[in-house]
Amino acid sequence: MATKEFKAESKRLLDLMINSIYTNKEIFLRELISNASDAIDKSYYRSLVDKNITFNKDDFYIRITPDKEKRILTISDTGIGMTKEELENNLGTIAKSGSLAFKNENEMKDGVDIIGQFGVGFYSAFMVADLVTVKSRAIDSDKAYKWESSGPEGYDIEVCEKETVGTDVILRIKENTEDENYDDFLDEYRIRSLVKKYSDFIKYPIKMIVKKSRLKEGSEDEYEDYFEDEILNSMVPIWRKNKNELKPEDYDQFYMDKHFGYEKPLKVIHTKVEGVVSYNAILFIPSRAPYDFYTKEFQKGLELYSNGVLIMEKCADLLPDYFGFVQGLVDSADLSLNISRELLQHDRQLRFIAKKINDKIKKELLSMLKDEREKYVEFYGNFGRQLKYGIYSDFGTHKEELQDLLMFYSSTEKKLVSLDEYVSRMKEDQKHIYYATGESIEKIEKLPQTEMIKDKGFEILYFTDDIDEFAIKMLMNYKDKEFKSVSSGDLDFDTDSKNTDENKDIFDFMKEALNGKVKEVRASKRLKTHPVCLANEGEVSIEMEKVLNMMPDNPNIKADKILEINTNHEMFDAIKKAFSEDKDKLKMYANLLYNQALLIEGLPIDDPVQFANDVCSLIK
Ligand code: ADP
Ligand code: MG
Repeated sequence: MATKEFKAESKRLLDLMINSIYTNKEIFLRELISNASDAIDKSYYRSLVDKNITFNKDDFYIRITPDKEKRILTISDTGIGMTKEELENNLGTIAKSGSLAFKNENEMKDGVDIIGQFGVGFYSAFMVADLVTVKSRAIDSDKAYKWESSGPEGYDIEVCEKETVGTDVILRIKENTEDENYDDFLDEYRIRSLVKKYSDFIKYPIKMIVKKSRLKEGSEDEYEDYFEDEILNSMVPIWRKNKNELKPEDYDQFYMDKHFGYEKPLKVIHTKVEGVVSYNAILFIPSRAPYDFYTKEFQKGLELYSNGVLIMEKCADLLPDYFGFVQGLVDSADLSLNISRELLQHDRQLRFIAKKINDKIKKELLSMLKDEREKYVEFYGNFGRQLKYGIYSDFGTHKEELQDLLMFYSSTEKKLVSLDEYVSRMKEDQKHIYYATGESIEKIEKLPQTEMIKDKGFEILYFTDDIDEFAIKMLMNYKDKEFKSVSSGDLDFDTDSKNTDENKDIFDFMKEALNGKVKEVRASKRLKTHPVCLANEGEVSIEMEKVLNMMPDNPNIKADKILEINTNHEMFDAIKKAFSEDKDKLKMYANLLYNQALLIEGLPIDDPVQFANDVCSLIK
């Protein structure tokens, strides 16, 4: 039979495995055991829902058999097995999720990312073996097939003999090299410790026949070898254990085993609920956002178990979108195994669990904000944006739920602060929660609009994320305090500035000169040293206009702009003079000031050439 080729991506991955830039080769065993366990899960599940299939509990196990002489390591399972097509599809192509990673050449160089984050799984066998043979018989079949490959050149599939349903993965272990002692992987002691380290919680027995030694009967110093079948793992799934039995490393290890991520999780939440609906859950907050988190490809969800049996790998209904970054699992004896995936959504128990989990995550985040500030700031750096989306989306349905989790950079504290902290510090004569929007903290810091507010000693929150102002507009107020942009038309504090009527004719003329570009020109109450700034009236702010106009189906929404003039600035004398002596000059001034205000806002000016000419004619 002709050798078949691997799919291109698989080939690259295999190359990577064989040339193994990844030093942690021992994880191949964890990968193969985890596949074996998954396969047994599947047949166990079948036996529960399909009356025609009966199993004995003892029928489910994984066996590891090392053969030092032949350099063969076999990992067998009594799982669901694979048909010929499945061998081809599952082992000939890399997992769907993995393929994306290969778009990034940098990640190619750094094998750690790939193995950790995407769980390349099966192919890791090639890190330690130069020939991999998989013999498998599927659950409904009386035929068995053999898949064999020695690397990227391809693989062969042919019929073979196999008495029982399940899979044998047979590895021909590589010869030792200078850097790596592959022999080790055939050593019973090493295998036992690898199983303990990585696969202790696998719920099926992992068996190995081990050579032991005992005193010969009747002898006092003569020993004899004998063989004994040993179960290498403790088999209790981690989430069934009591919290006090577990060390932080246990959770970290479990997190890695599950391929949730390759870095330790930032936070672990282990919860046990008993009552109308009982369940165990282990939830993780990752220490970094997955590479695809803020894309459409990202799929949220928790693993769902019914009494220890995996029924769904990614149950999306258990998590609201705004907590979509949470990983982990839920196990409940109160869920029916038979339930179909579509029905799951309408399942009362499941909805109850989802609600509880939502509350638990929120509670944990709040206490993290309170007691583990640094951690929370790190979390917020990764997932704060998602929380803000959460406030904005679904027409603000969840805004109350999430508002206490928000943080923004503070002009006075020079760090992220919560809204609660802001409000508790508000001055007696301060009516609003002030915010300023811009590209970066440095740029906002320089905004003329913030001058007077800062002068009064009021704190300002800096919004640097596109979503910030949209979320805040949805929130409208916090603890009865209204949010107010430093650029908003009405700042609502009483300053004894000059009566605006005084210069009305000048401002009307300037507005006219600007030809519809602004809704109004007026004297500013917020400027101290700067000559001009833009303010705005109405729902759409200038910053929002920028964001909206960057969207693909540009809705061409414009903010109602107001040009504010600092009448205390000496440049205003020139304006007054021009108004009485040279109207054309004032026209030019109006345009210059307007363009200047646009530039300060980071907005493009309509006619840069005209602007440049005007500046030059001033210099002349
Ligand atoms: P993953 O486990 O993340 O799906 P792997 O590369 O580890 O990725 O395995 C690929 C697929 O091959 C599995 O999803 C499964 O369908 C199949 N497979 C691997 N090992 C076994 C096995 N021992 N028994 C049955 N199917 C298996
Ligand atoms: Mg796997």
